[in-house]
Amino acid sequence: MNIIQHPWAVIFFVGFIIYTAIRARYARPTRGLERTHRQVDKLEKALLALVIPSSLLLPLLYLFTPLLWFADYRLPGFVPPMGAAVMVAAIWLFWRSHADLGLNWSATLEIRKDHQLVTRGVYRRIRHPMYASIFLFSAAQAMMLPNWLAGFSALVPFTLLYLIRRPREEQMMCNIFGDEYRAYMQHTGRLIPRFW
Ligand code: SAH
Repeated sequence: MNIIQHPWAVIFFVGFIIYTAIRARYARPTRGLERTHRQVDKLEKALLALVIPSSLLLPLLYLFTPLLWFADYRLPGFVPPMGAAVMVAAIWLFWRSHADLGLNWSATLEIRKDHQLVTRGVYRRIRHPMYASIFLFSAAQAMMLPNWLAGFSALVPFTLLYLIRRPREEQMMCNIFGDEYRAYMQHTGRLIPRFW
C-alpha cells in the first residue's frame, strides 16, 4: 500500500495527528504535578512498553515505508468510510474525557495531590471514557489500514492493557475514594454508558 494512492490512509493519518495533539495539549499542564500515590510496578511498565511503541510506530512505519506491506490484505470498500466515522467519534470522546479529567489525568496508575473524583461530563455515565475512546480509535485503525500488523497494532496490545489495568485502577480508586467511588461504580458502565 502506498499512502499517496490510499485516501483512507491519509485520513487516518490526519486523525492520528489530531489524536496525539489532543494528548499533548492536555498532558503538558500535568507535568511536574505532585503525586501522593503511584502504582507503577513491572507489569504496568511492561504493558506501557508494549502499547506505546506498537500503537505509535507501526502505523507510521506502514504509512511512510514499504516494510510492512507484505502483510496487506483486502478490505471490503464500505469498511474504511465506516472506520472514518468511528474515528471521528473516538476523537470527540478523547477530547471530552481529557477536558473533563483535566489535571487528574495520568498515563499510569497515579493519584495526584488534590486529586478530584470526576463524575460529570462524559464521566457521568461511563467510568472509562478515555479507554472507550482508545478502543474506538484502535478499531477505526483496523478498519482504515488493511494490514495485519499496522491495522491491529493498537487494538491487540491495548485490549491486553485494558484487561489488566481496569480492575487495578478501580481497586486503587476504591482505596483512595472509598464509598464515593463505590457509589459512582453503581450508576456507571465501564465502557458503555449506563442510563438505568
Ligand atoms: N480510566 C479513566 C481514566 C484514564 S487516565 C478513563 O478511561 O477515562 C488514568 C488515571 O485517571 C488514573 O490513574 C486515575 O488516577 C485517574 N482517574 C480514573 N478515573 C477517574 C475519575 N473518575 N476521577 C478522577 N480521576 C480518575
